[in-house]
Amino acid sequence: MLRFAPSPTGDMHIEDLRIAIVSYLIAQQRNESFTIRIEDTDKARVIEGKDSEIMQILEKFALKHENVFHQSEHLHMHQTLAIRLLEEGKAFICTCTDEEQQEDDQIDKKNHLYSGKCFDNDKEDLSTLKERGIPFVIRIRKPQDEIIYHDLIQGDIHTMPDTIDSFIILGADGTPNYNFASACDDMLSGINCIVRKEEYLCNTVKQKHIQMLLGYESDIDYAHLPVILTIESKHDTIKWMFEEGFLPDAIINYLLLLGNDKLPKQIFTLPEAIEWFDIENISKSAVTFDSDTLRFINRKHVELMDDKSVSKLFGFADADIGKLAKLYLEEASTIKELKSKIDPIFAPKDFECRWGEQMKILETLILNADMIEHFDTFKTFMMNESGLKGENFLKPLRILLTGAEQGPDLCDIYPLIKPYLLEIAS
Ligand code: GLU
Ligand code: ZN
Repeated sequence: MLRFAPSPTGDMHIEDLRIAIVSYLIAQQRNESFTIRIEDTDKARVIEGKDSEIMQILEKFALKHENVFHQSEHLHMHQTLAIRLLEEGKAFICTCTDEEQQEDDQIDKKNHLYSGKCFDNDKEDLSTLKERGIPFVIRIRKPQDEIIYHDLIQGDIHTMPDTIDSFIILGADGTPNYNFASACDDMLSGINCIVRKEEYLCNTVKQKHIQMLLGYESDIDYAHLPVILTIESKHDTIKWMFEEGFLPDAIINYLLLLGNDKLPKQIFTLPEAIEWFDIENISKSAVTFDSDTLRFINRKHVELMDDKSVSKLFGFADADIGKLAKLYLEEASTIKELKSKIDPIFAPKDFECRWGEQMKILETLILNADMIEHFDTFKTFMMNESGLKGENFLKPLRILLTGAEQGPDLCDIYPLIKPYLLEIAS
């Protein structure tokens, strides 16, 4: 089983979405189920409503999941497992006050390791501490041996025991910390492949240690994805991408392309990628978010969409309007940009502009003429009837028909907007 484990603590970033997409993709390839675990144990950081926002985003990308749950639902299980470690002597109660922990930090400035003051505290009785109102945390005993695990991207990761502390697994308020909750849940759900950000490498080893002490033997494949560097921080949320008008299919295509130069093609859909995508081909180096490539991919995906679906993005259900939008792909890449071309065509025209007088003449002609099939006939008719010539004719005609001074050839546009001409030319 694979999982996506977002924290509902802010807007979803492209790195998070890439994790979700890759996890889903591997689940499909391995014929495993895909589960969503909302990591909401850090109550201070949780933002109300972010969980449903995350689910809506996953739906937009059609990342189907078999199960979804909030990690806080498992609180009782986490506590039970912590107590089990305590009873087995694999964890211990630490009653150091905050100041003492501070002092400890000062003693061991190098790597802020825990002093070990409470190592032999295992005689402490939980209920007595609780009765006397003495605050305590539960720490896991540090590892004795080297920890080794395999990463599909980073290779074998070796960690020497001394680099890991006797870290806290259950806080003073009884809440499991991230590493403990995550390790327990991955174990309880039978997760066998974890895709996460590279910055989690130091957590993975702690989680591995927790699972080993809990006696969990099953192997988990890891894939720590390298960081995506963004030039402007506001450009890295999915919200921003939607506001800009990038299509989900284009975003998926772009994210799967990142750091991967062994792909059989550049433009593809998720179902296609499931056929040949190999996680081991992702490079270990960081990648930089490049909006030009994303824009290029977006144009290609608009081109690939069927015309009627494209028209729906602009409030129509008419293949010709889809074709019309595609004409503008030379000069526009995102749905927002295309909209800024399509909307003025159907908006009331500005007869106060420089060409207003001529536009008025042409408008009257259109409103009174029969529908003309071909653009050339239409053009000749309009020119003859209006007596306008050259720029004096073409500019106002273009503005009347498209709301803009420039754009694709009118002879390409005309057949697509012909049925709407009365509405457009006014
Ligand atoms: N909640 C973590 C995140 O949002 C999950 C990391 C993980 O365990 O994969 O990045
Ligand atoms: Zn202590």
